[in-house]
Amino acid sequence: MQFDFLIVGAGFTGLVLAERLSNELGAKCLVVERRGHLGGNAYDEYDDHGVLIHKYGPHYFRTDQPAIVDYLGRFTQWRPVNYQILSWTKSRYWRFPINLNTYEQLIGRSATEAEFQAHLARVRVPIAAPANSEEVIVSQVGWELYELFFKGYTQKQWNRSAAELDASVCGRIPIRTNRDDGYLREKFQALPAAGYTRMFERLLAACANTMVLFNADYREVRRHVTFRKLIYSGAIDEFYDYRAGVLPYRSLRFEAEHFTAAQLVDRAPVAGRPGFWQPALQVNYPNEFDYTRIVETKHITGQTCDGTTIMREYPLAYVPGGEAYYPVPQAAAQRQYQAYREMSAADPDTYFAGRLATYRYYNMDQVVAAALDLAGQIKLDWQGGQRRRSA
Ligand code: FAD
Ligand code: UDP
Repeated sequence: MQFDFLIVGAGFTGLVLAERLSNELGAKCLVVERRGHLGGNAYDEYDDHGVLIHKYGPHYFRTDQPAIVDYLGRFTQWRPVNYQILSWTKSRYWRFPINLNTYEQLIGRSATEAEFQAHLARVRVPIAAPANSEEVIVSQVGWELYELFFKGYTQKQWNRSAAELDASVCGRIPIRTNRDDGYLREKFQALPAAGYTRMFERLLAACANTMVLFNADYREVRRHVTFRKLIYSGAIDEFYDYRAGVLPYRSLRFEAEHFTAAQLVDRAPVAGRPGFWQPALQVNYPNEFDYTRIVETKHITGQTCDGTTIMREYPLAYVPGGEAYYPVPQAAAQRQYQAYREMSAADPDTYFAGRLATYRYYNMDQVVAAALDLAGQIKLDWQGGQRRRSA
């Protein structure tokens, strides 16, 4: 069979490109997906107990780009969400990310914002341009709060100290002196109202001339089809057979546990409602236990089921062929990636896009924005090619 584009991966990147290229260029696309479903890591599903869970870790959609909301809004309604997170250490829950409430817990009495600011002015380490994740936190809140909430979590998550990671990693977490304890900074925070998978199904349904092959690796499929261009959203080092070495990634193991209503009777109601296992959507465990966080998606999906399911997230060493969940934001890894970047720049028939193919710690909105940009670039290349062919 003959296709214009062979697209590797049915995540945000692959599906957005299939939609744009099939509809805008009338191109015939084949999407090849190794897993048995759409959506890549953003896939959600109803588990055996009927609870909607995020199978590959919590996916909190947020963006400051209205164009991305508008684009995805063609395929979903939105459910506004306030992502609320706590941290658990020293046998108690802490308000998190760090804010005035956290400070009051630390000192054991009420305080004003001015007092908290004065405290931070005393304890923060003066660093004009924080160069790594340890510096970005201690320069804002000093050693005590860093050690309470960031040092252990970061070591557990990345198997590296915060001092070895780019400032952008811990810099993702806001620190505020008021009582705002929203986990994210972006203006638009919402979930696809009927879930991510439903949104991906509608995105695929909107694609003209597009086929998806599940449970299929492109290395196998490419031997049986012909195509003009390849779009690749898998891991770039795997694409090049690890010719410049295995890039560092961090992997994860997810452990789900379901609780029936009867098993939840002793749990405190949340906003007056029974049926929850923990007091917030997500609880981070910076210092105790082998997992980094426990997520209970029922807090944000709006489901009214009696039982609930929680997901414990255990960081794991990555081995080639396993799941590469996180590229490691670190200068040495970026240098190694540059070798692959050069190989890809020299390949005119393959476009690399998405979190793993460009080796970037991208959020969903950033991935969609990059895919839309790439679609625009491909359109220009394509029209140039058509003109050359007809000249
Ligand atoms: P992916 O979703 O990884 O899709 C790539 C697809 O390609 C996969 O389905 C894979 O199976 C397939 N593939 C790879 N190689 C092959 C091959 N050889 N043949 C066939 N198929 C192949 N972002 C947010 O904005 N908010 C969040 O809260 C958030 N939380 C996250 C939590 C976790 C634990 C993780 C890992 C990521 C999180 N993200 C979050 C990031 C988000 O998952 C990504 O930005 C987005 O899903 C990337 O989309 P993608 O299409 O580039 O890649
Ligand atoms: N982090 C931390 N303590 C926390 C939460 C986050 O040290 O309680 C650090 C950690 O290094 C983590 C990074 O901040 O990897 C980014 O956190 P985020 O929750 O955004 O991670 P993601 O959802 O992308 O895994």
